[in-house]
Amino acid sequence: MMREDIPSPVLSLHAVVVPLPAQGHVNPLLHFADLLRERGFFITFVNTEWSEKRMLQSSKQFSHRSSFRFLSFSDGLPPEHGRTDQLGELMAALAKCGPVAEELLRRDHGSCSGVPPVTCIVTDSAMSCTLSVAANLGVPRVVFWSILSEAKRPEKLISGLPWNIPDLWPTDLMSFYREQNESDVIFKALLYESHQSNEADYTLVNTFEELEGRDAISALSTNGCPALAVGPVFLPKVLQGEESKLGSMWGENESCLEWLDKQRTGSVLYVSFGSLALKSQQQLDDIALGLEGSGHPFLWVLRSDIAQGHTAVLPEGFQKRTTDRAFIASWTPQLKVLEHESVGGFLTHSGWNSTLESISMGVPLLGWPCLADQFLNCRFAKEIWKVGLDFKDVDVDENRVVTREEVESAVRDLMQNELLRKRAFELKEAAIKAVMPGGSSFTNITAFIQDMLEKAK
Ligand code: UDP
Repeated sequence: MMREDIPSPVLSLHAVVVPLPAQGHVNPLLHFADLLRERGFFITFVNTEWSEKRMLQSSKQFSHRSSFRFLSFSDGLPPEHGRTDQLGELMAALAKCGPVAEELLRRDHGSCSGVPPVTCIVTDSAMSCTLSVAANLGVPRVVFWSILSEAKRPEKLISGLPWNIPDLWPTDLMSFYREQNESDVIFKALLYESHQSNEADYTLVNTFEELEGRDAISALSTNGCPALAVGPVFLPKVLQGEESKLGSMWGENESCLEWLDKQRTGSVLYVSFGSLALKSQQQLDDIALGLEGSGHPFLWVLRSDIAQGHTAVLPEGFQKRTTDRAFIASWTPQLKVLEHESVGGFLTHSGWNSTLESISMGVPLLGWPCLADQFLNCRFAKEIWKVGLDFKDVDVDENRVVTREEVESAVRDLMQNELLRKRAFELKEAAIKAVMPGGSSFTNITAFIQDMLEKAK
């Protein structure tokens, strides 16, 4: 996309953007914030001190963009708390952060000249603490969903809202909802956030209409307020060749890109289970041996904290045996990896960002969901969009070990499947069209900006 295609900026709009402090939430909100900045907004991006520190450690410094600044507040948890590995506790702590976030914005605003008055708060769907802040500042609360719109449907049942859902499976529920145990801290925190997000003045979703259909997106509107698809929010920057590693909470290993340069087109399997999923040592062994047995080159993200309670160990001799066709990294610049012509398939935990990124780059998926909404994403990729494969029964038994033979044969099926590749290419084209001027998501963002302008008058 050319810069001149983007309508000239409208001055003096100011969005405060607040993600949940987890990688899969910071990334899409950073991308969306940057889209708004390009279209005339001044941006205040608000992290928690913990996530800001993680991002600074990995990226060394925040890149400087005009009209874009970062602020942070304390989440109130002790420094040694694991945060994302105890998500329920983290969310419960964040739910109480309204006053501290408001104090931060008021204090900062008084001391900074040249910062326009706040026009709206764009907040992660799981950051309800910003509700009171927006109400007290008298500005709209814009809730940003970084999930498949359809994932909200089963959740509405749990929240007590009526919904007519055909073909609903128990495994379509977010994993945290399955037990429905009132004393479970994450169940309670998510239910609370879900109720609170119904108070949104505006709902935006990181998806595109051509993928999900307008009805699924409109269903997120609970009180007559607009619900619009604005994604894939990372894609405009990718098309401009400007992906940023700004939001990474792990140091990215860029040399995997040079390794990819040396591989044949479409030959490499990319393997990543995102930022939160854990695997047992036994499972890691079977993955390693399955990848080895598949015969395909692979780029594997082996996060330093992926094994439950210890450092992951690779099977004896594995690295030596696969040295000519494997690259192991603790974190990668994933958008650049998926965009690379050598990558022909993605073995993924089916996180929504990874799923959307893969689809938008035309890469077929082999889904292996672990938690949260990943099961539904995987089902949609396989059954509705026909762009992916999966493993049997990982959704009904979380302790099931997928054997090396299963990994080996599923990888082969994925890498040799021309129908999946063709379908992935079609979806890539549709995603690009959606974010280009005149496309559905581009037009929705324009409508959103117009509404914010009206409200700011
Ligand atoms: N990601 C990355 N490098 C990696 C692995 C993941 O940049 O090596 C990014 C990926 O592009 C995505 C995010 O981390 O934007 C993961 O989000 P997702 O929703 O897929 O999964 P989660 O981490 O929330 O489970």
